Amino acid sequence: MLLSRRTRGAPGRAGPGLRTRVGGSAELRGVSKSYPGVEALVEFDLTVAQGEFVAIVGPSGSGKTTAMRVLGGFEQPDSGSVWIAGRDVTSLPAQRREVNTVFQNYALFPHLSVAENIGYGPKLRGVRAKNRAALVDDLLRLVQLEGVQQRRPAQLSGGQQQRVAIARALANEPAVLLLDEPLGALDRRLRGDLQIELRRIHRELGTSFVYVTHDQDEAFGLADRVVVVHEGRVEQQGTPAEIYDAPATLWAARFIGEHNFVTGRVDTSRGPRWSIATDVGLLHAETAHGAPAVGEPVVVAVRQERMAIEPRPPSVVDNAVPVRVTEVVDVGPELRISASTPGGTTFVSSCPRWGGPTVPDVGADVVAHWPAASAHVYPLSTL
Ligand code: ADP
Ligand code: MG
Repeated sequence: MLLSRRTRGAPGRAGPGLRTRVGGSAELRGVSKSYPGVEALVEFDLTVAQGEFVAIVGPSGSGKTTAMRVLGGFEQPDSGSVWIAGRDVTSLPAQRREVNTVFQNYALFPHLSVAENIGYGPKLRGVRAKNRAALVDDLLRLVQLEGVQQRRPAQLSGGQQQRVAIARALANEPAVLLLDEPLGALDRRLRGDLQIELRRIHRELGTSFVYVTHDQDEAFGLADRVVVVHEGRVEQQGTPAEIYDAPATLWAARFIGEHNFVTGRVDTSRGPRWSIATDVGLLHAETAHGAPAVGEPVVVAVRQERMAIEPRPPSVVDNAVPVRVTEVVDVGPELRISASTPGGTTFVSSCPRWGGPTVPDVGADVVAHWPAASAHVYPLSTL
């Protein structure tokens, strides 16, 4: 295998076709971009280190595609600058940047064969036919789609077309590969398969990847680092674990994963422990974000999988609220138990179907409990 030689770290040529490519860094520095009536990006900073796999995740309309278009050179920022591999490329057109983009809708040339699609960029660069053919073979092997060189895009499935689109983008040996919801049109299983392959391709090539998605599972599963965007701004960035374990804002907490939220007011803060007065009693938390003052309205957030709902809690717990079970939903890998207080506050616990606590019956009187370490406090005003 030509490629395996390269993964052992030999620099230079991986074979007759594909060359080793060290990824380049990419940066947006304070980029703002407005369209009539909408600020798509506001003072947006993005740093992608050499060889890194960064995912940009946010809801539809949050500015993800605009950020990709500015990086790729398809859109000029109103202010700020764009840097690729340490060079200011703000005024360079798309074709002169060492960046290639894979879009959701494949965007293959329908009248060209797979080989011609992948070889298109190299042909423009003057790569000879023989070397081009070798490069196409290498790339098709890389995306695990061999023997389809002469087919037209219409003769391939959606997943196969997207593999060709990835191969075509990589044929230009970009320092940075941009992927804008590339798997969005594929079904769930195919998406999962291609996610695993993208990680492998990233590992083997060393090219920097910037991957845009609205799907948090995809972002967290793929990337070394995740950038969460909201209304054209970076809401939070960090490793998947950093963001999952401690969403920096209430918005990020709502966007990432499933939480229980209880509103209240700060009663006391002593050492690392915060006490919050709520309708369901005094609740305790170890982490507060945004330094809320005593008396300030806040939200206590606890992930559903950190919440336990069971008849007999351990004797010492940080937070315990008597509740009655209202619903048990079996979603396959896990169970979701809902339970409410007489006052109407509902808690949801998600627990593994096997190895979890004994599942209470609907109508049973039980206790919702959770450790202070799993509770995060956010100012209500940040919503
Ligand atoms: P995302 O990719 O996160 O869904 P976009 O970057 O496509 O978001 O869009 C961000 C905002 O900018 C949206 O409100 C969108 O309607 C607006 N927008 C994007 N492109 C244009 C355009 N060419 N003209 C006008 N508005 C645009
Ligand atoms: Mg988009």
